[in-house]
Amino acid sequence: MELIFEKSVEERKGARVPGGVSVPADIPPHLRRKEPPSLPQVSELDAVRHFTALGRMNFSVDRNFYPLGSCTMKYNPKVLEKAAEEEGFLSAHPYASVIAPEKVQGSLRLIYELEEMLAEITGMDAVSLQPMAGAQGELAGMLMVRAAHEAAGRVKDHVIVPDTSHGTNPATARMAGYEVVTVGTGRDGLMDYDEFIRKLGPSTAAVLMTCPNTLGIFNPAVDKIAAAARGSEAFMYCDGANLNALMGKFRPGDAGFDIMHVNLHKTFGTPHGGGGPGAGPVCVKEELREFLPVPRVVKVKDRFEVVEDRDGSIGRLSCFFGNFGVLVKAYAYILLCGGEGLELISEMAVLNANYLKEKLRRFYEIPFGEGCLHEFVLSASGLKKHGVSAYDVAKFLIDKGIHPPTVYFPLIVSEAMMIEPTETESKQTLDAFAEAMKEAAELASRDPEELRRAPRGAPAGRLDETGAARSLKLASLE
Ligand SMILES: *Cc1c(COP(=O)(O)O)cnc(C)c1O
Repeated sequence: MELIFEKSVEERKGARVPGGVSVPADIPPHLRRKEPPSLPQVSELDAVRHFTALGRMNFSVDRNFYPLGSCTMKYNPKVLEKAAEEEGFLSAHPYASVIAPEKVQGSLRLIYELEEMLAEITGMDAVSLQPMAGAQGELAGMLMVRAAHEAAGRVKDHVIVPDTSHGTNPATARMAGYEVVTVGTGRDGLMDYDEFIRKLGPSTAAVLMTCPNTLGIFNPAVDKIAAAARGSEAFMYCDGANLNALMGKFRPGDAGFDIMHVNLHKTFGTPHGGGGPGAGPVCVKEELREFLPVPRVVKVKDRFEVVEDRDGSIGRLSCFFGNFGVLVKAYAYILLCGGEGLELISEMAVLNANYLKEKLRRFYEIPFGEGCLHEFVLSASGLKKHGVSAYDVAKFLIDKGIHPPTVYFPLIVSEAMMIEPTETESKQTLDAFAEAMKEAAELASRDPEELRRAPRGAPAGRLDETGAARSLKLASLE
């Protein structure tokens, strides 16, 4: 597909404003523009075609299957957008929460109740909706760990992170000022317990585990790990970004975790990708409540009030209450699904992943674990003998109308492909994906050159991905 960005033609006009464009009289002359702005001169039709063509180059869940591991690219019901667009939510001024809370009781109630719902779902005692991303939720958690140790006069210098944790985990521990101590993974896909015990000590601040880990495997020994951590006065942190594996089945708060974050934009009703708005609420046990970020919504008799400042709090993480629209969607989603619905979501997410894992086992090596939860990791290293890599398979899938899985992560699996089908996909879609993966494996032995030429049908084929991120070119496609 070719897309030309320079469409401007001298004197071509898109719309005529009745009465012409006039400058408001109260703009002082020295602030007025001397030259007309240099805008593209295009017709309305030119503009419509241009943006429609751009939109079609976008890959989205609304058009195709998107099994991007650890990202939960599931379908979110459109009715949730309606909820977020309710006039009362949409037109509430953020400062109303400060100067006229009586005018935004509904919004404050929603915040208060969503916190309660998440506490119930996670088995925690208190929640803050302030963080605007999963990684920011992690940072909030790690700053609370720091604050709690300092308040108790404990000297700590490192955080233990298994090597199957999400990439943000070690980065966050480091940002909070801790050294990162990595623990390896056994053949069962679980954190090596003996190595963990060797590395755990009085200066361990926390154990930060992605749960389930990035292999999609749940560690049945979390309570044992938590008990050991407690013995060293270390907090247990659960990265619960992918709660669609656990909801209704397992509450981290019941298994000894002290802190966790959840990603509302993965599990609870907000589509994401491309840097859209998110929310990564942080949930804690009673012991850490006083350190939660501000502001807090509190209930006084039957009214809701906002507390702006509190002793002990790690402070503010975002303006007002973060991405409020995302919170509205999560609230509506939880009410819509109900407890049973949330449990069914976990069952379907896990069933879909296991179904695919078993189908693909015939064509690809699955290095860890028998079963899995919401995702699994396979290895394309068996194709190496044909000179084919996981990258080539990923590119081949694009021509099949499928978004490639996460590749080359986790690092402990060579030629890794991390696949998360999510709960919203049908058996037919999963079968079509398995078929495409089988075709890729067969093509690798029959005609590897062909596979290495993929994708043929995409607007851009094989990019210099590092270069594309560092020197972004937005005005042309070469
Ligand atoms: C997505 C994800 C994160 C990071 O969440 P962001 O909202 O992208 O910052 C952290 N941990 C896990 C396990 C994730 O899947």
